[in-house]
Amino acid sequence: NSYALARQSEIDTLQKNAEFRREFIADISHEFKTPIFATQGYIHTLIDGAIDDKQVRMKFLRKAAKSLDSLNHLVHDLLTLNQMESGVIKFSFSEFDLLELVMEVIDELEHKAGKRDVNITVEADRAKSYPTIADRQKIYRVCQNLIFNAVKYNHDGGEIKVSLKLSKNQIQVEVKDTGPGIPPEDLKRIFERFYRVEKSRSKGKGGTGLGLAIVKHILEGHKSKISVTSVVGKGSIFSFELPTEKKKSDSIEET
Ligand code: ADP
Repeated sequence: NSYALARQSEIDTLQKNAEFRREFIADISHEFKTPIFATQGYIHTLIDGAIDDKQVRMKFLRKAAKSLDSLNHLVHDLLTLNQMESGVIKFSFSEFDLLELVMEVIDELEHKAGKRDVNITVEADRAKSYPTIADRQKIYRVCQNLIFNAVKYNHDGGEIKVSLKLSKNQIQVEVKDTGPGIPPEDLKRIFERFYRVEKSRSKGKGGTGLGLAIVKHILEGHKSKISVTSVVGKGSIFSFELPTEKKKSDSIEET
């Protein structure tokens, strides 16, 4: 009897895996179709004569290039996720200051935020340091994704507050926006690959639908997790924690 039960659970797992693979392939094909279809349209229209119209020529070439850029972005994100899951990408831990990293990310995104009149403020004690041990490049990616989403999904003239809270053993990073918020039934699913709250909302903004899946994976690799709370019509708060790196001198003082 127990042999039959074990076999049945093995079969169930295999069936679930097969279904997951089927769904995943369908999702990927669907995601690829959009930029390929758009590029194809522009190139064929050019071949069919639009190439002779000087103004249309440049416009269509730019649009085709933009669609190819999103395809490239999508393939890149897919590879990153795949390599992290299969362990090809190793985590490389080092000590760094989390506030410095957050400021770097904001510097990079300020231009994009400015274009939509979105204001980013930082709430942290500038006199303090926020040392942690983590994979700097990957945590950069996490902050970049969260802050960029807060810009992308905000309304023009919106606000973003990034706060860092230092406690004895950890640093909490919180990204708060004044965007449209996320309905409760979607909240659990936004970390799944390709899940979008409103398909058109994200696609129009050039998202791959993989950003938060990558964020979740990176934080799991740090034995941390991503949390989210959101109120529709008011905004969302994404947060995570990393351990504080205690300097040797600090621990001597403490003992
Ligand atoms: P995308 O590339 O589509 O932005 P993500 O994985 O980063 O993909 O996010 C998944 C979905 O979660 C988005 O498509 C969007 O619907 C929703 N989302 C993420 N961040 C926010 C936010 N700050 N405010 C509102 N919705 C958000």
